Amino acid sequence: MRLPVDPLGTAVRNYLHLLDAESEACHSTRVLAQIRDCLQRHRATEPPVRLSAIAEAFNIFPRPHFDASVRDGELVFSAKLGSFLIRLNEKFRGANLLAGKWPDEMAAAELLGRGRFTYAHEFVHRFFYVHRDERWERACALAAQLEHDPNIRLRCLKALQDLEESICDDVAGEVLVPANLLVGVIGDSLVGGQTTAVPNVYELLRQISKYFNVSYDCALVRVERAIRRNVVSCHQDLCILFVEWSDRKGSSSASSSRRSRLDIRARVAVFPMAPGGLRVRRPFPGIAVENFGAEVRQLVDSVLRDRRPNQRTGGLDLAVRLQAFRPRDRSIEHQGRLRGYWARLGHQRADHPQDGRVLLWGVLEPALP
Ligand SMILES: [Zn+2]
Repeated sequence: MRLPVDPLGTAVRNYLHLLDAESEACHSTRVLAQIRDCLQRHRATEPPVRLSAIAEAFNIFPRPHFDASVRDGELVFSAKLGSFLIRLNEKFRGANLLAGKWPDEMAAAELLGRGRFTYAHEFVHRFFYVHRDERWERACALAAQLEHDPNIRLRCLKALQDLEESICDDVAGEVLVPANLLVGVIGDSLVGGQTTAVPNVYELLRQISKYFNVSYDCALVRVERAIRRNVVSCHQDLCILFVEWSDRKGSSSASSSRRSRLDIRARVAVFPMAPGGLRVRRPFPGIAVENFGAEVRQLVDSVLRDRRPNQRTGGLDLAVRLQAFRPRDRSIEHQGRLRGYWARLGHQRADHPQDGRVLLWGVLEPALP
């Protein structure tokens, strides 16, 4: 009897074997532990964590190289330097270089820059390289190469890369914003005063981004994770959307080459788990805001077009559409009303209307039948 062949499963097994790991979780835990140990040895665990301080311990050149042709960031092995090199898009250079600083040392005034996170993410990619025949090779490329069929090989490579991306995001987030410290900063701030009082999410994100020196969206990704994992108390109907112009992969207008796919998308979303006894489907990052209904789209549109510098926050009361389902039922659409606030983040330049970012948050109330 021929057993059915699962090329993807085989590729993942080969990949993990190359990385000398039993599972993805095992590798990610080990990488995090290695980075933390090193930070501890360098007495550099106090936020904001600066990975450039320990880069050399992992044969990474501490200073990143800026290049306009790099999408966001990438890690390469430089034969010339004899070490790994983090390459970052020019957009992260900003005022840091003028001040003689690296993106890794980004000042609190530049909270929206994602340079620090991108640096950390590329840093983590280092742990997915293996040394073969006197060369550094990406484990995902080596694992995919073992597949003979070119189409399947490509599919395997893509799947392994996606897996690696999500691990790099998780580890980078945990290094820059450790969950145990985050819980302390959040405290009771997401609970709200009474059942209808809306927690001040904007103020909380401001505090988190200042303390850990990360962008608001990075802060919100960590908050979302803490809520999902039930490690913080939270208003049961709290709803948060972080919205910006980007392509599906999350590249903003500045670095996206595929302009056609640019749209106003939610990069991070927090939705109540069970409004009215329904289970809400977690929206995937990069979902177009249109999917939440016309009123959400209209509000975000008008906020992004409004350039009045002092008009940065306001109230909202919107119909919101959610993908939800009842137990043992097919997916249904659920209408709710979101009552809360919006805040415009970042400095919008007149010639770059797509630079703006909008945070919407509030309490989701069931729509009247
Ligand atoms: Zn990556």
